[in-house]
Parts: sequence; structure tokens; C-alpha cells
Amino acid sequence: MNPVIVLGTGLAGYSVAREFRRLDKATPLLVVSRDHAGFYSKPMLSNALASKKTAQTLVMKLADKMAAELGASVRPHTHLQHIDTAAQRITLDDGETLVYRDLVLALGADPIRLPLEGDAADAVLSVNDLDDYARFAERLDGVKRVAILGAGLIGCEFANDLLAHGITPVVIDVADRPLSRLLPEAASARLRERLEAAGVQFRFDVAAKRIERVANGLRVTLSDDDRVDAELVLSAIGLRPRTALAQAAGLAVNRGVVADRWLATSAPHVYAIGDCAEVEGHTLPYVLPLMQQGRALAATLAGTPTPVIYPAMPVTVKTPACPTVVCPPPINAVGSWDTELSDDGCTALFHGNDGSLLGFAVMGTATTQKQALAARVAGLLP
Ligand SMILES: Cc1cc2nc3c(=O)[nH]c(=O)nc-3n(C[C@H](O)[C@H](O)[C@H](O)COP(=O)(O)OP(=O)(O)OC[C@H]3O[C@@H](n4cnc5c(N)ncnc54)[C@H](O)[C@@H]3O)c2cc1C
Repeated sequence: MNPVIVLGTGLAGYSVAREFRRLDKATPLLVVSRDHAGFYSKPMLSNALASKKTAQTLVMKLADKMAAELGASVRPHTHLQHIDTAAQRITLDDGETLVYRDLVLALGADPIRLPLEGDAADAVLSVNDLDDYARFAERLDGVKRVAILGAGLIGCEFANDLLAHGITPVVIDVADRPLSRLLPEAASARLRERLEAAGVQFRFDVAAKRIERVANGLRVTLSDDDRVDAELVLSAIGLRPRTALAQAAGLAVNRGVVADRWLATSAPHVYAIGDCAEVEGHTLPYVLPLMQQGRALAATLAGTPTPVIYPAMPVTVKTPACPTVVCPPPINAVGSWDTELSDDGCTALFHGNDGSLLGFAVMGTATTQKQALAARVAGLLP
């Protein structure tokens, strides 16, 4: 019997593998990853300092333990090179070819790199996996200031976490406020105020232009010609789904690998989930969507075709200086925010023109309302 092959051992790859094995104990299962294939929770990368975790202790299970647990063959440090959808065959970097019954692309996303000038442009770090985190963490000793490019979710989380290490983060963004794409203005202002009070510095309405080496580290020159000196520069400006191999194989690709509600791509027996996938037009690089996808796809692969359901899926922003939960309205939603601030909380509700609740953000003491509010928001794919 040809195996189900899962490409990628991030949360998406392992979530579908685990769910599939629960339902089907007989079909051979092969999981391939270009990394170490150890199981870890990626969201913990941006609060590892405060929780005193290292790159090593973040790994919950090594590849061989995952293989034993899943009754699967797990191939770490193995790159996918090519997919032949007609022959239902993949080629690996050592030239080996493997035939699949079904193939799951769980290849993740790449950090977007800003086109920066300067002799230290290549010194900019990004943290999107455990190896990146290991490189970042080993350079933090003795560091006093880190410049962070991007005041979105990941940038703000790293900024808050660096405070736990006695480091001053300077967060730079072209927008005029933190989490500008997820929060209404008053809620962004509250987040900014609390992070600043905790020690985070912000530079808004400016872009990083150049990075140069100077005597004590790196110098970031901004679009207003101001400068930020720091020992390290971390970029957190967003991710782009990894689509190149799918595209080369002739699969339909838009922002991500195009998949329908059954996670099926445009080629028979090939599925896509997680950060690399665009499911019914949505690219949602978060944990809850990929878990919904993993469960639905596992059932399909085990013989019961099952569409993915997206209920309201709030995201917790790991900024202890200002605990925040957001459930953003759909991208093209028409309506308006209604924000209430108190000394220790913030409740922002996004209502559509017909009065229905389409999204929300809660902060501080108001985060206790997250479940009740989520139950009132219609899901993206009910
Ligand atoms: C710092 C940080 C904090 C986050 N915090 C949160 C949070 O609080 N809440 C939340 O919901 N989401 C959070 N996210 C997002 C969430 O972690 C991701 O959406 C999720 O982990 C993506 O999982 P994935 O399996 O799709 O991708 P990945 O984890 O990136 O896995 C991709 C896999 O594909 C493999 N691969 C890639 N190319 C190849 C190839 N050619 N051949 C073989 N293997 C290949 C890689 O080795 C890897 O195993 C955070 C993300 C980051 C970076």
C-alpha cells in the first residue's frame, strides 16, 4: 500500500499526522521535514525568555519519539525537491523518489525580507522556527538594545519578551500604531501605553532604510533620517506562504497554495494545510485554523470526506504588559468599531451594518469575556 506522505513537521504537519493515525492505524504514514522534525510549539518562541525556555527545552518530543508515537516513518533533514502529481511521486534532495497514495503539503511560510541598504543588511535576523530562535537566543548575552522591524503581533510579543531579559526593544513600523491591522485605534493606543510603561520604545510612521555596522553594533537609519543604534536587529514584518514547490508542480497558487474546504488542491490526492495554504480564499497563519484543518483532513484521508469548519478563532497576543485577545473581523467586512476603555481593561466590538458582531478585541480584565464574545461571532467557514 502506498503511504500517506506529510511534508512538514510544524504544528500543521504533526496535527494532521496525529489525527490521521487516531483514525487509521493501518495505512503507512511518512512524515518528511527539512528541519530536525522535533515537536515544539512555535508560539512559544516569542515568550521563551519570560518562560525561561531555551531552544533545546522548547522541544517537547524528538523525531524518533514522534515516529514511535505516530507509528510513522519520520525523515528529518530531508528536503522535498519536486512533486510529480501525474505519477503521484515526490523527489527528495538525495534523489530518492517516493510514490504517495495522498500527499499533504504542510510547508509553512517564509519571513518577508525588507529590501534594506547598508553593509549589515544581511545581519537582520528573523525568528520563524526553532533553529532561527537558537541563533537569536545565543546572541542575546550582554545585549542592551534590540531593534525590531514591525509592530504587529510577533514584533510586539518579542518586544515584551525581551524586557524579561533586561533588554530594551525599539520597535519600528511604517504604521502609526501597534497591531494596526488587528486593533482599532483606541485599543492600539492602550497597548502602546502599557508596553511603553514596561520599557518598550516605539518609532512609528517611519521605515527602516539602511543597516550599517558601527563600533558597538548596528545602526538602523530610518526614512526620516533618524537613527536607532542596537546590537541586534530582528525583522517581524510578516510571512509569505511557501508556494514555490507547489507552483513548480503546476498546482494552483494564489497568496497560498489554493485549497478548497476539503483542503484539496487543484491536483488529485494533494492537500494543503497550515501557513502554506489558502483555504477558500483565507490565509490564516495561526494555530486554531490549522488544528481545524488537521482534524478535517485526517477524517477525509481516513475515508470520510469532511469539510473544514472555521468557528470564530480568537488569537491571544502574548504581551503580558497588556494581555490582549483579538478576533479580527473578516478582511472585507463593512462596519465599525465601538471601543470602551476602563483603567484596567478595554473592550472593542466590531459590528457590521446590520448590527451583527463580526469581530472583537479585549484587553486586561476584559479578556475574561473572550469566550462569551467568540460564541457570538459568526465563523469564517461555518
Ligand atoms: C514567534 C511566533 C509566535 C507565534 N505565536 C502565535 C500565537 O500565539 N497564536 C497563534 O495562533 N499563532 C501563533 N503563531 C503562528 C503559528 O505558530 C503558525 O501559524 C504555525 O506554527 C504554522 O505551522 P505550520 O506547520 O503551517 O508551519 P511551520 O511550523 O513553519 O512548518 C513548516 C514545516 O515545513 C518544513 N519544510 C519547509 N520546506 C520544506 C521542504 N522543501 N522540504 C521538506 N520540508 C520542508 C519545515 O521544515 C517545517 O517542518 C506564531 C508564529 C511565530 C513565528
